[in-house]
Amino acid sequence: MKLIQHFVNGNIFPGKSDRTGKVFNPATGIQEAEVKLGTKEDLNNAVKFAKEAFKEWSAKPPIVRARIIFKYKELIEKNSDEITKMIVSEHGKVYEDAKGSLTRGLEVVEFACGIPQMLKGEFTENVGTNIDSWSMRQPLGVCAGITPFNFPAMVPMWMFPMAIACGNTFILKPSEKDPSCSLRLAELFKEAGLPDGVLNVINGDKEVVDAILTNKDIQAVSFVGSTPIAKYIYENAAKNEKRVQALGGAKNHCVVMPDCDLDQAVNGLMGAAYGSAGERCMAQSVAVAVGNIGDKLVSSLSKKVEALKVGPGLDKNSEMGPLVTKEHLERVRGYVDLGVKEGAKLVVDGRDIKLQGYEKGFYIGGCLFDHVKKDMRIYKEEIFGPVLSVVRVKDFDEATKLINEHEYGNGTSIYTRDGDVGRTFANKIKVGMVGINIPIPVPVAFHSFGGWKRSLFGDQHMHGPEGVRFYTKLKTVTSRWPSGVRSNPEFVMPTMK
Ligand code: NAD
Repeated sequence: MKLIQHFVNGNIFPGKSDRTGKVFNPATGIQEAEVKLGTKEDLNNAVKFAKEAFKEWSAKPPIVRARIIFKYKELIEKNSDEITKMIVSEHGKVYEDAKGSLTRGLEVVEFACGIPQMLKGEFTENVGTNIDSWSMRQPLGVCAGITPFNFPAMVPMWMFPMAIACGNTFILKPSEKDPSCSLRLAELFKEAGLPDGVLNVINGDKEVVDAILTNKDIQAVSFVGSTPIAKYIYENAAKNEKRVQALGGAKNHCVVMPDCDLDQAVNGLMGAAYGSAGERCMAQSVAVAVGNIGDKLVSSLSKKVEALKVGPGLDKNSEMGPLVTKEHLERVRGYVDLGVKEGAKLVVDGRDIKLQGYEKGFYIGGCLFDHVKKDMRIYKEEIFGPVLSVVRVKDFDEATKLINEHEYGNGTSIYTRDGDVGRTFANKIKVGMVGINIPIPVPVAFHSFGGWKRSLFGDQHMHGPEGVRFYTKLKTVTSRWPSGVRSNPEFVMPTMK
């Protein structure tokens, strides 16, 4: 059985504990590896190396850091097939989707190559007579990232390339469900020339997370995962005086207006609801049918959901792979059972799908509910599976009210041909990422990613300009070089004359 260990100070590191977690191939349902679950001691040991490495790494000119990051970009491209297959074999998503997610992570690496430009400060000559002032951004020290199972490459890559480009060192704690590609990403960074200790990976569960939250040398924590854990991270990191950004769960609504191009909306919804088996924080899990569009929308969607090709991620014909674990499969099935009990109409039932040769895989077919009401748990809670709920409303105002009152505010989109409706939606909606005739409005790397309400605890979004702000602190210098005239002591607040 393959054993997945840690990566500390440039080397694979076994750690002190014998505790391990099971890593499955979701397509076959077979356990293929064991992952070491690190201890507090393992984490503290990695932090010591990262703290030491910070001294030299933070002193390197940004352009020198950028050159290593550029080389890293080339190595990821060269090894993309291997990393993509790692994602497929531990997460289950289909190959092309996994490759796309790696590319979105790679785009953050490309953005980080421009770090010299982003770290330029601001300068004002003569803020007072013969006094100049400038602001600069400096790295924080050791930063940590805790990531979810659903994007084993992309989400870690939202974090560590930005932190490292800014001059910090980093400890990554990936999801214990699909940890392999984080280690490979760390090895490739070393091959690109990253000094030992700058990027470290400690595998594990709550024990390592709690060690991160209490370690006095960790300055900042980035988290992506479910809302209850995001809140826990936010509260405890802040209690321990750390900077924190904690991204949580989602329930994304797609508003379908009666004037929209229905084919476009249906195709958009199919990809957004069932792509990656719905295990995306930007998946559209609620379609809001406005006015009289409901019947046409449900009829068109149901044909496509029934025709979805479900299969292993490495089969080129598969459109949707399995769920990540057996427990998660049972949880999603449980939500479908619940929806039926709550009185929603199950138009397409994917619960009993069987795949020949893959009987033990964690598969569920696409499920479609109609007439879902806002007080049902299947509407209120995040299911994180291939289950789309259609809610019918009378008009645009009712649709926006529904979204604005939901506890989550990660992403949303609207399908319409009316520019005024699209613009009003973007302006009024209480959600962090908005699409207009775009089903999954994930911001590109040079913008920033983040939700509102209980989808993000903290102030700053990830990557892009917000990433630079999160991973640096601002310093402002005011300077005078007196010559000749010496000033007398001043006992009043200096003001500029
Ligand atoms: P999760 O919250 O279970 O786990 C996330 C991380 O937290 C993992 O590294 C895990 O080891 C750790 N963790 C789990 N339980 C913990 C505990 N009790 N104490 C301390 N640490 C703990 O999330 P998941 O199931 O891996 O991922 C799916 C969730 O992530 C969904 O809710 C999804 O919406 C969310 N997500 C959000 C975004 C976003 O950008 N907002 C992106 C991707 C995923």
